[in-house]
Amino acid sequence: MFAFEDRKADVLVIGAGAAGVRAALAASHTGAEVTLVSKGPITKSGSSFSSLSGGWGIQALVGTERTEQNLEDFYNDIIEAGLGVCDPGLARILVEESGPRLQDLLAYGLLLRKDDKGKPLRVKGCFSHSERAFLTENVSNIRETFQTMLNASGAKVLVGAAAELIVLQGGCRGAWLVTSDRRIVRVMAQATVLATGGGAGLFEDHLASEHETGEGYALAHHAGAELKNLEFIQFMLGIKENGRRRFLPLSELDGPGALLDSDGRDIIMKHIQGEENRKRAVEERMAHHPFSTRDSSYLIDLGLAKTRSAGKRAFWRNGNPAAKRAEVAHMAHAFNGGAAFNDNGETTVPGLFAAGEVAAGPHGADRIGGCMMTATQVFGERAGRSAATRAMKKRTMPVASPPSEILLKKDPEEKRSCSRNLEALAMARDVFSRELMVLRNRRGLEECLSTIEHSRQALVAESDQSILSLLTGEHMLTAMQLIAAAAFKRGESLGPHCRADRGSTPDSPIV
Ligand SMILES: Cc1cc2nc3c(=O)[nH]c(=O)nc-3n(C[C@H](O)[C@H](O)[C@H](O)COP(=O)(O)OP(=O)(O)OC[C@H]3O[C@@H](n4cnc5c(N)ncnc54)[C@H](O)[C@@H]3O)c2cc1C
Repeated sequence: MFAFEDRKADVLVIGAGAAGVRAALAASHTGAEVTLVSKGPITKSGSSFSSLSGGWGIQALVGTERTEQNLEDFYNDIIEAGLGVCDPGLARILVEESGPRLQDLLAYGLLLRKDDKGKPLRVKGCFSHSERAFLTENVSNIRETFQTMLNASGAKVLVGAAAELIVLQGGCRGAWLVTSDRRIVRVMAQATVLATGGGAGLFEDHLASEHETGEGYALAHHAGAELKNLEFIQFMLGIKENGRRRFLPLSELDGPGALLDSDGRDIIMKHIQGEENRKRAVEERMAHHPFSTRDSSYLIDLGLAKTRSAGKRAFWRNGNPAAKRAEVAHMAHAFNGGAAFNDNGETTVPGLFAAGEVAAGPHGADRIGGCMMTATQVFGERAGRSAATRAMKKRTMPVASPPSEILLKKDPEEKRSCSRNLEALAMARDVFSRELMVLRNRRGLEECLSTIEHSRQALVAESDQSILSLLTGEHMLTAMQLIAAAAFKRGESLGPHCRADRGSTPDSPIV
């Protein structure tokens, strides 16, 4: 049986990635009592602490680099990558505050990679024109830095999942949580910061972890918050090897590596007509990891997608003829959309703030590499500070909400297992992973939406034990539905959203 518990906080932070921890610290520095809840283990769950890339790239301008020209170039990079759908005001804030927020991290112990002369290394980052992104030293140092920040915040920490946001008197007043030690906790809070990361884990092939399943999109949506840009998802070319996933080494795409189908045919040769077109597509593909329709590099991704949707597998052959071929697939990496928020980090629901990958605005259709980590710090700090300021003004606690409907929804037949929920979810995930990948069309998106609805009908809470699986399942289905609906609505191709049926992609020499 689950035990019920009531708690109070000035600010509740949901999620303990880079954005959540930064928000908790800022809220506490502003004078608020903070409770933080995380679904996964602290400093180990979330893309922020992924060991796949060995650390972060993070865009920032510090100290004397913060000239008007450099700030303007940084801003223009974001706007150009965003293809008209990023929020210019938020992009401006991100640029202005990137340096101070990086300096905060350095003060808490973050280490940067240095060159032979001891100067921090700088790299361009995908879709960017300047060598502005810093590289962090390693993942264990990132984890230590954020643990230090969390300790400094003095936040009370709970490990568990947010089940539902509490919306009362026209504002967000905390959340219902289900903790890993089997408690159902109602946290009444004056302000709540949503920092649950993105939804890459909704896809069968992804580079994130099992915790990034878009639950925050569902929580925000159920609370009445506006979401935007959910159709813009970054997909990378990835390799599956010995049960592990890694980025395809793009620098080897023009040799000695090759993309082959299961008949051993070269995918680029087969799908792109003409030597000049192939050369240009390869050159442009090597310039950015995320798939995008913005240049002719997309022809390579479409060749791969067509190969796989014809039922064939695709492989990467590296330069070593003796090496085993490894399977290649598109892998979901990060979301550029989410809950819309204003300069203070507040969503369209008063008292509900959002930061990090769950939030949308500072990035558009494509985003420059290294800018997400910057966004976690700039808007995590703003969201935490504003949430605390709101909480300090509202000292009377609202009347407690009635128990969450979802937590009371139980089937009396306790004997059945959770397998039915898992099956329903797997069915939706299968269609979603196929139809929301790099090649999208109206028919596939309609099929996806109806499968999600069908799966939702099949979900049940059979016992206390299955409440968590029901909640996760419901949130995942809602997130899939929101994403599929956004992709359905946007008829034209833009950035990583490729509508193969309503072509505004450049003339395609694909056969
Ligand atoms: C392999 C990889 C490499 C990347 N490299 C870079 C890079 O170099 N530069 C860059 O800018 N971006 C990079 N990105 C993207 C970037 O890492 C993420 O966008 C960013 O870390 C998101 O941070 P976050 O704090 O918003 O969320 P996360 O770090 O994903 O944290 C989410 C937190 O929310 C918790 N959570 C989720 N759901 C719930 C719930 N229902 N209740 C309670 N808690 C919940 C999770 O347990 C976790 O603690 C990379 C992504 C990947 C996958």
